[in-house]
Amino acid sequence: MEAHLHFVKDRPLGLTLDRPIIISGPCSAESEEQVMSTARALAALNRVHVLRAGVWKPRTRPSAFEGMGRPALAWLRKAQEATGLPTAIEVANSRHVEQALAAGISILWVGARTAANPFAVQEIADALSGTDVPVLVKNPVNPDLELWIGALERINKAGISRLGAIHRGFSTFERSRYRNKPNWEIPIELKRRIPGLPMICDPSHMCGSTELLQPVSQTALDLNYDGLMIESHIRPAEALSDAKQQLTPAELGTMLSRLVYRHESIDDVLTRTKLVELREKIDKIDRDLLEILADRMSVADEIGQYKKDNNITILQSTRWDEIVRNRMKVGLEKNLSAGFVQRLFEIIHKESIDHQSRVMNIVTSVEATPLPDTTDPVA
Ligand code: PEP
Ligand code: MN
Repeated sequence: MEAHLHFVKDRPLGLTLDRPIIISGPCSAESEEQVMSTARALAALNRVHVLRAGVWKPRTRPSAFEGMGRPALAWLRKAQEATGLPTAIEVANSRHVEQALAAGISILWVGARTAANPFAVQEIADALSGTDVPVLVKNPVNPDLELWIGALERINKAGISRLGAIHRGFSTFERSRYRNKPNWEIPIELKRRIPGLPMICDPSHMCGSTELLQPVSQTALDLNYDGLMIESHIRPAEALSDAKQQLTPAELGTMLSRLVYRHESIDDVLTRTKLVELREKIDKIDRDLLEILADRMSVADEIGQYKKDNNITILQSTRWDEIVRNRMKVGLEKNLSAGFVQRLFEIIHKESIDHQSRVMNIVTSVEATPLPDTTDPVA
């Protein structure tokens, strides 16, 4: 289904900002002192545009710290006045929206757990109706693009036109190097479906530790994201939530200065020409690849015919083991990653088997089909 959203494209979040927009602050607002000192240190970097903090925290288990609630709103307000930084918090129900707006919070976001629940998103949308506060919608915890679009649509239908998305990764049961796997193809598809929608990456909740923050942020910038939301705490080790993934403001400053900021529009004609040339090369290689794959499949058809004629089974596992070993060796020599070679040949192999079985089964089924009953007048 087409997504029809009406939002302001040239001033994401209603703020005129240099891209990438940097949103930073602690996972949770814990005390006035913690909020003020983190905010002051972040503002001093001169790189941060928006101060974030969680006031109501959606925690997995009930015994965890669930946020300081309403009193924290006043600390954020104070930090905003002291630093000039607009503030952003998470809202998960209508009471949160009302209290946040009453406290003068500048930007609201819908968290990943809430985005997965259409009833909760609708309640938030209804509470937002008639206001013009900018709203960011995190991806739902599960990798469901339609649910993410649905949440954006609900907020947009309430009249919110300063809208954006936050990509924070998707939870999985398997162990992974990420706390929440990026699945970059999902936000890329969202950007394709809703062109111009501001897209912010939250590497903190993707990584779950500070280790991969820089490469993940770099990937987001290289994919032309509009901004980053990165958690920062004045004393990360003492944080009451997400202690492992928070940077000090100074560490954040260092990381931001190490990122490479590339431009989307290429002014340099020479560079542009070069890029066109390289893209043409890629187009040609892709055509060749498809040609070669089609050749491979017609050989598979011939093999299918041969196996059929000689009564040999399609799948011969020793042959498959040999293919995997051999292709892996060649692939690694050519600098292709083992995972890529493995996945590639699994797909190719599956398609070959489908081709072979089509050849074998079609012949079989034709043979097995009884001759038409010529006495039937309809036939
Ligand atoms: C957060 O931003 O602190 C948070 C709770 O994020 P998420 O909704 O992505 O889990
Ligand atoms: Mn957090």
